[in-house]
Amino acid sequence: MSIQMNRREFLKRCRYVSVLVFGSTIFTNEIAEGFTKLSEAERPQVIFIQSQCCTGCSISATYGNESDFIDFVTNIIRLQVHPNISFAQGVDYMSLINEVADSGPFYLVCEGSIPAVMKEACVFNEEPMYDYMHKLMNKAAAIISSGTCACYGGIPASNQNVTGAIAIDEYMKRTGVKKPMIKIPGCPIQPDRLMGTVAYIVATGKLPELVDGKPKRYFGELIHDQCGRYQAFNQGHYTKDYAKDKLKCLLKNGCRGPVVHSDCPTRRWNGKVNVCIESNTPCIGCIHDDFPFNSPLYLSEASFDDISWSEMKKKMEK
Ligand code: SF4
Ligand code: SF4
Repeated sequence: MSIQMNRREFLKRCRYVSVLVFGSTIFTNEIAEGFTKLSEAERPQVIFIQSQCCTGCSISATYGNESDFIDFVTNIIRLQVHPNISFAQGVDYMSLINEVADSGPFYLVCEGSIPAVMKEACVFNEEPMYDYMHKLMNKAAAIISSGTCACYGGIPASNQNVTGAIAIDEYMKRTGVKKPMIKIPGCPIQPDRLMGTVAYIVATGKLPELVDGKPKRYFGELIHDQCGRYQAFNQGHYTKDYAKDKLKCLLKNGCRGPVVHSDCPTRRWNGKVNVCIESNTPCIGCIHDDFPFNSPLYLSEASFDDISWSEMKKKMEK
C-alpha cells in the first residue's frame, strides 16, 4: 500500500519525525533527504512477533501520539508481517514470515516474554516459541524488545512465574543469539518511542544512544524530576483526598515517579492529551524493570518496605 502526498505534507511529516526522534525540527531537511532516497524496495523490512503478551503494545502503537502509525508503516518502514494486522493466516502466515526472513535484512520487533520452563505455554506453528524464536532472531539485522514483558518479563514473569517467563535479552543469552538489541519498555509501549526508535535507525543507520539498553532520549531522566507536581512535592503538599486534591504530589499515594526514568510528563499519551499523574493517578512504574512489583500497584505509606518505596523514602529523608 502506498499513500501519495504533496511536498508540503511530506515536509510536515519529516518535521514530525525530526521532533519525534531528535526533539526539535532541526533535522527536517536531512530526514526529508534520507526518505526521498528510500524507494519502496529500500525501506527497511519489519517483522513483528508476539510471545506471552496481551497484544496491548501493538494496539497502543496503532493509536499513535506525535507520530502516526499509518504514516509509519507506509512511508518509513515496510511492515511485512504482523500477527494482528497481516491478512495471512496459518500456513500462509508461516510462509510469509519465511519469505521475508530469507529475502534480505529485516528488523524484528518482539512483544512479550518467552516461557522457558512450561514451553508449551506459547506455541508457534506447533513448535514452542522457545525453540523457534532464536532461528528467526539469527536472521534479523537487529532486535527491538517492545514493551515491559519483552524487556524484563513483565506480567507473565510476575508472582510465581509458573511458565518460567524470561525477557528477550535473557532468551538471547541462553540461546546464543548475538544481535544488536534495544529495549523499549512500557505497559503498554508509548507509540512515539517505538516508531521514533525505528525511524532513528532508518534515518541514521545506527542505534540511538542507550542507557541500560534503552534509548536515552526517552528514558534518560526521572519522571519525578520533570513532574508538574514537583513544586507540591518540595513544599510537602501531598494528596489526601482524590476528590478534593487535584494538583498535589501523589508520592504518599504510591507514585513511583521518583524511581522511574521516562519522559512521560513531557511526551504524554493519546495525541498528547494527558498522562497518568496529570489525571491524578500515581505513576505505577509500568516501564520499571521490576514492574508489576511484588506489592500492590497502588501503595500506601505503610508499604515503605517495597523496593522502589525504600528508594523514595531515602529521597524524602534527604
Ligand atoms: S512523587 Fe510523583 S506526583 Fe509527586 S512530584 Fe514526584 S512524580 Fe510527581
Ligand atoms: S507515568 Fe508511570 S505508569 Fe504512567 S505511563 Fe509513564 S511510567 Fe507508565
